[in-house]
Amino acid sequence: MNLWVGLLLPAVGFAEPASRLHYVFTPEAGKLRVAVLLEGVREETDLVLPSASGEAAGLERGIAAMRLTPAKGRARLAYELIQDWQGDSRESVRHRPHVDASHFEINTANAIVHPKLDLAQRVDCTFEWRLPAGWTLATSFGAAVSNGEPIRQRFRGAWNEVQNAMFAAGDFRLLRSKVGNGELVLALRGPFAFSDAEAAGKIEKLILLQRHFWRDPNVPYFLVTLSPFAPGQSSSGGSGFTNAFNLYTSSDAPFSDGLLSLISHETFHAWNPLKLGRIRHEQSIKWFTEGFTTFYQDLLLWQNNLIGTAAYLEPVNRIVREQSRSPYERGAAIALWLDFEIRRRSSGKFSLDSVMRDLYEGRRKHPDLSNERILAAIARYANAGTMQRLRAALDGGPIETPPKLRAICAEPRMVAMYEFDLGMDRAALLETNRVKALAAGSEAERAGLREGDRVRGMSIHWNDTGKPVKLTLTDGRRTEYLPRGRALGSVPQYVCP
Ligand SMILES: [Zn+2]
Repeated sequence: MNLWVGLLLPAVGFAEPASRLHYVFTPEAGKLRVAVLLEGVREETDLVLPSASGEAAGLERGIAAMRLTPAKGRARLAYELIQDWQGDSRESVRHRPHVDASHFEINTANAIVHPKLDLAQRVDCTFEWRLPAGWTLATSFGAAVSNGEPIRQRFRGAWNEVQNAMFAAGDFRLLRSKVGNGELVLALRGPFAFSDAEAAGKIEKLILLQRHFWRDPNVPYFLVTLSPFAPGQSSSGGSGFTNAFNLYTSSDAPFSDGLLSLISHETFHAWNPLKLGRIRHEQSIKWFTEGFTTFYQDLLLWQNNLIGTAAYLEPVNRIVREQSRSPYERGAAIALWLDFEIRRRSSGKFSLDSVMRDLYEGRRKHPDLSNERILAAIARYANAGTMQRLRAALDGGPIETPPKLRAICAEPRMVAMYEFDLGMDRAALLETNRVKALAAGSEAERAGLREGDRVRGMSIHWNDTGKPVKLTLTDGRRTEYLPRGRALGSVPQYVCP
């Protein structure tokens, strides 16, 4: 969400049915020059500067040399967008603008100065891209290859769509394919350990099966960008935008089940929430937008035979174990329970899928996506008692673990739980590759680690006490241990006997 800044536009006159915004983008010497012409924006409208997006804050640092010039009933604005971070491409900078001499990848929230507009406000936006010949362009509104002439894109509709848009250009390789009656554009840059064709094939399959889930044949255009993290960065991440999502993943890892699950998550976001309605209070419905997406990302892979039952139960068990941690796990645990309640109450006639499709079908009648609307959609399939327990869960109360899953072989068994304990100083390990403050009696010590050991390679699943920490030391020793500390009692975990 943006912070409104106190810059006031000068009187630009008349209120018009549509605000007209004309943007011109010119990459130059590793920066992106942006010129804006605003017309038909109400008097004294605030200007919004990028401030926070995803996990990134302080984004106004990327905006330089801003000038605002009022002129007869319009306003002109110019600024330079600079990449305000250095070093390798990595998770901690994923949400910041990426701008260098060979490409840029930005979105409205992290790079675009714009008037403060209601999400429902009608706008007529043009985006003019003055790109070097040979650069490719891939945005929420289309894709093209530059021949050196300006490329124009136009969007007319609700500001919400522009507010959530993304824009990429440069040395991306464009792969276009027909998916149903629409076009999928995959824009990739940098090396990966898998082929472009393998990535395109898997993403196509996920988009098709999710269109099938939502009963939405109408996806005329969809963009996926895929960019590499620097070698040695093992994580993956993505964000959803209008008609698009972006992905970052390791440049030296194969196309894993984890990456497939992430892509399934981001694809699901194309509908939840982007096609379900406008969001005015993002934080308050994260249990639904992120939690329910987390519930479906692996369920849909399993139902379509893209992963096996064991690979499906693993994230379900994580959700049940860690439901207190974040809206992702809490919301997913609520979805798991609610799906069971709806199926049980209707003897299998309905499920949580019915709620999701109702919300999709009702998007025109009720264009805002709010807690009220989500709860009303659920209430059609749930009795008063279930709604009461749902409200209590949303207020931080307990979430029940259902006795049955859609994977019918799965049964819950009580399993001992532990606090995550690395057994040493986390920062010292990550920043200096040293074993420091090794805890006496910890699993790390029992595995043979010694104070001051130097570490050459590591694999750690943070906050997951079921996966071993693997450390390779500079002297060639390899150690492996479960990062388990204090016992926390027991929780149910599903197994197929
Ligand atoms: Zn998400």
